[in-house]
Amino acid sequence: MTDRPHRSRGSQHDKWLRDAPSALARAFAPVAGYGVTISSMFRPVVTEQYPFEPPQVMPRYHGRHQLNRYDDGLEKCIGCELCAWACPADAIYVEAASNEPGAQYSPGERYGRVYQINYLRCIFCGMCIEACPTRALTMSTDFDELVGPGREGLIYEKEDLLAPVPEGAVGAPHPMVEGTEDSDYYRGKVVGSTQAQIDWVRAHRPEDPSLGAARAKAAPTASGRGSRHTVKGALR
Ligand code: SF4
Ligand code: SF4
Repeated sequence: MTDRPHRSRGSQHDKWLRDAPSALARAFAPVAGYGVTISSMFRPVVTEQYPFEPPQVMPRYHGRHQLNRYDDGLEKCIGCELCAWACPADAIYVEAASNEPGAQYSPGERYGRVYQINYLRCIFCGMCIEACPTRALTMSTDFDELVGPGREGLIYEKEDLLAPVPEGAVGAPHPMVEGTEDSDYYRGKVVGSTQAQIDWVRAHRPEDPSLGAARAKAAPTASGRGSRHTVKGALR
């Protein structure tokens, strides 16, 4: 029973090999292969002309990391190292330091003094950005700068990863917006640099390039800030 189908299939194959092609098939045989080529000429071109034309990547593509800022220019990173602990490739190195009255880099007590990502190790899994409690760390869609002739260029420092100063704001360090707490920053109450912050930067770093485009915004009012109890409730 098991041999019959084999014999049947084999005989059909032998017949197909023995059968002589028709006259029409013989006539077109030399150019039949061009049919595939010619039909492909009328299909849409899918070849991407990279690097001459930038590729279209998905909005949530995992590219180079970015260390974000608040709207007044202070840094969001608080140096907690949660991103480094979450990283399966041990690609992140963080050293925290305390904010000082004359050198406030982020709201609250601590900031990331040293921040490095080793792109020779990174596998772009995104676990670090999931672990970040302040949304300081996100991933951009940039990828074509992550190449280089040596190892050194692929270890990105904090300066390489920091987002640009928001439009109209002044760069850190500078004091927090007057009358605010770090929770006001987490809740999005700070919408830009105030005149007091701009004046502080002008007095301490008159050469700071962000001063030229600085535009003062109003500080959040006390009634609009809410209590700490409200903040905890809102975050749950
Ligand atoms: S994307 Fe993944 S591998 Fe790369 S630094 Fe973040 S956690 Fe580490
Ligand atoms: S990027 Fe986020 S998780 Fe990493 S040290 Fe800074 S605040 Fe913490």
